Amino acid sequence: MSIQQNLEHIISRIRAAEARAGRPKGSARLVAVSKTFPACDVLACYDAGQRVFGENRVQEALEKIPALPPDTEWHLIGPLQRNKVRKALEHFTLIHAVDSLRLAQFLDTVAQETGKRPRILLEVNVGAEDSKFGFSPELLERDWEELARLGHIEIAGLMCIPPPVDDPEEARPYFRRLRELRDSLAVKSGMPLPELSMGMSHDFETAVEEGATLVRVGTALFGGRAYAPAPSF
Ligand SMILES: *Cc1c(COP(=O)(O)O)cnc(C)c1O
Repeated sequence: MSIQQNLEHIISRIRAAEARAGRPKGSARLVAVSKTFPACDVLACYDAGQRVFGENRVQEALEKIPALPPDTEWHLIGPLQRNKVRKALEHFTLIHAVDSLRLAQFLDTVAQETGKRPRILLEVNVGAEDSKFGFSPELLERDWEELARLGHIEIAGLMCIPPPVDDPEEARPYFRRLRELRDSLAVKSGMPLPELSMGMSHDFETAVEEGATLVRVGTALFGGRAYAPAPSF
């Protein structure tokens, strides 16, 4: 199957999941995860109509960004190191995986210096795994007041990477947990928190049914990755 055919198929599955959940058409957007794939594949996907791409590593993205037309939207979906923050703010319209108060504060400081107000998502460790990145739900509630006070970043919502499961139905409680957490923080703070970034190739339809506004899909679109991206930390 070509990238174009994969894209059409994924979009139609997203639309069907929206419809099943009674959600408006287009309320869930696809982030095409192009990590490890060359710019020519990204361009093929662009030519098929896709505009939003997700990359894990700032450096890898910087190599591809010049090859794509200027209306391409780039999201950083991987962990962000402090020494890459300035570059990230220059090139990405959304940073998905802000995983600590410290990082959020640092982003806020840099954003103030550069006069930008970047949109970010807070990564929540909904699976409560020791090895994973992100705020535990409890920590997020505790840090919330300080996070909400940061005036130079826009907290647009939450993001999660649930523990790997065989059956997408097993991921549903994690997606639901993220939505409920977002709902309760939104009520508490009066901030809209419109975005929920959740769902990957294996389980994006379940995520859409549970309220995802951004699904991050790589393998189902571009095919299997030949090598794992080097960790960026
Ligand atoms: C690689 C990656 C994805 C895409 O995963 P697939 O299973 O290939 O769809 C989504 N989110 C993040 C954070 C990733 O690193």
